[in-house]
Amino acid sequence: MSFTIAIDGPAGAGKSTIAKKAAKKLDFLYMDTGAMYRAMALYLIRNNIYENNEKDIKKACEKADIRIAYEDGVQQIYLNGENVNTFIRTEEVGNMASKSSVNRDIRLKLVELQRKTAAQENVIMDGRDIGSYVLPNADLKIFLTADIKVRVQRRYEEILNKGLKCNPEEIEKDLKERDERDRNREFAPLIQAEDAVLINTSYMTIDEVVEEIIRLART
Ligand code: C5P
Repeated sequence: MSFTIAIDGPAGAGKSTIAKKAAKKLDFLYMDTGAMYRAMALYLIRNNIYENNEKDIKKACEKADIRIAYEDGVQQIYLNGENVNTFIRTEEVGNMASKSSVNRDIRLKLVELQRKTAAQENVIMDGRDIGSYVLPNADLKIFLTADIKVRVQRRYEEILNKGLKCNPEEIEKDLKERDERDRNREFAPLIQAEDAVLINTSYMTIDEVVEEIIRLART
């Protein structure tokens, strides 16, 4: 039996940084489900399919073969055989992923892949609906949050570190819009599962949060 840890929360709460570090310490697989929604979004962009075109999205779900593999412990994402890790981190793809992940066909397709992987390995999976929908029987569920101002500041620094320009007001507007879409979609929205432990990371260091998760996993 595999041990599964679900980490959910809004954008900028620190999910991926923390999940990656905790996975390394526990020697678990880290599964970034956002990367899958991004790979699907990349397919839509490349094929000029809009996020509201349900008919073409349904066909796209059949044609887009999304797989994950681990190379030196790092998740690689393949879209129809091509490693697309370097193409999915752009703002354009993130924006499309935020909009297209509302689509039920896309979610069902990717959830299947997520569940299959979790059944085989000890895994820390991060996303928006992991504890509430993808892995309702996860051994540990964490809901990570942080105050909006803190999330904006983290996002701002992340973009600046990439050598790109940005403005905090625009980031705040964008984060709020993404949260709104994630929280209000009909199918598998972002929600704190009843049995999830809430951790507000606003005034915690990354290591403090990682230690807390490891402590919870071992109790
Ligand atoms: O986490 P990340 O920003 O990479 O995710 C990209 C988008 O995919 C998010 O804005 C969110 O709308 C969507 N997503 C989702 N469910 C997940 C993971 C990500 O809807 N489990």
